[in-house]
Amino acid sequence: MLASAAAISLENSRLYRELQEREAKIKRLVDANIVGVLISNVEGQIIEANDAFLQMVGYSRDNLTSGRLRWPELTPPEWQAASQRAEAQIRATGVADLFEKEYIRKDGSRVPVLVAAAAVGDTGEIVAFVLDLTERKRAEKEHERLRQAQNDLAYMSRVITVGELGASLAHEIKQPIAAAVLNAKTCVRWLERDPPDVTEACEAASRTVKDATRAANIVDRVRSLYRRGTPQRELVDLNEIIREMIVLLYDTSNRHSIEIRTELAASLPKVMADRVQVQQVLMNLMVNGIEAMKDTGGELTVTSKRTEDGQLMISVSDSGIGLPQEQPDRIFEAFFTTKSQGTGMGLSISRTIVESHGGRLWATANPGQGATFQFTLRNETTASSPSAV
Ligand code: ADP
Repeated sequence: MLASAAAISLENSRLYRELQEREAKIKRLVDANIVGVLISNVEGQIIEANDAFLQMVGYSRDNLTSGRLRWPELTPPEWQAASQRAEAQIRATGVADLFEKEYIRKDGSRVPVLVAAAAVGDTGEIVAFVLDLTERKRAEKEHERLRQAQNDLAYMSRVITVGELGASLAHEIKQPIAAAVLNAKTCVRWLERDPPDVTEACEAASRTVKDATRAANIVDRVRSLYRRGTPQRELVDLNEIIREMIVLLYDTSNRHSIEIRTELAASLPKVMADRVQVQQVLMNLMVNGIEAMKDTGGELTVTSKRTEDGQLMISVSDSGIGLPQEQPDRIFEAFFTTKSQGTGMGLSISRTIVESHGGRLWATANPGQGATFQFTLRNETTASSPSAV
């Protein structure tokens, strides 16, 4: 008896000590005023709160002691459901999952908060720890605004770049259309023969289809450069994008006596990426390379390969004027340009795009003449494309 009574009293004193320690911890938390703490009764009336909570909602301690503060009234209509859900959870299990909500401040404005709440024993009272999310929400909004601005800039620069390509495109589209007309005429001639040569006519007709498809593809490609929307990841064949860009830039480079060479790795795996954005990066680098050689002519070399660690790497190398002597590292800064008509946005946008794909973009001066820009993309898939060199 005695032994068990002693054991019980020992146990009690241990529990008591633990309780005291827990209380002290909570008291420290309440007094620290880093998080808002409140205790409400069964009716939702706030019967205790620390200064941090009162400051958050803009009420005074007098307002609290006069019994005026009730959390259901501090909760805007659209957050009532979330609060009630948490309350029901507490009644059922003693504790609610972390949840976000807003309180209405005394001045009518709102404060976004994160709440952790639990039952206080079985008194029907609830203790809630409240974290002010105003700063975090502002930062999120700012981040979103910056992202939007960057999207807008990317779109603008894309439109500008594509706009400059109008002339070369007209040329590119004219060529397959002229070929289609020629092949259609040939087809008619074979059919008008007596007797008609259907085999030859069929061949000419299928050549017409091919030409027209090529023209349509060119139009599609241009449209995809203009198209705006949320980034979309898909399996992209980098060699194909390089070839497309060469087609698009053929006329411009020709005008400046620039030869475009390629060294494309065979069987390059496809990569998960936003096609339009990768096109844009490549376009920026190639246009920059062409512009660096526009007074002298030269050679633009585009290569694709797999790096030793399995990433895909594209490099664009020119034999032009070379990187600016002073502050060569500034070229990736937004609005840095050495061109009278430059925007200074191309490389900064390109780097953002590449990095958002988990890759890197950098520049090096060539040993002889010109500059080389290289970027990597993470190869997240092993799907292989049968692309030829
Ligand atoms: P901008 O279009 O004004 O050309 P970019 O961001 O594309 O803006 O490039 C910024 C600057 O980087 C250019 O003005 C130029 O000084 C330099 N630069 C970019 N590409 C090359 C290159 N291939 N050769 C030499 N300098 C380059």
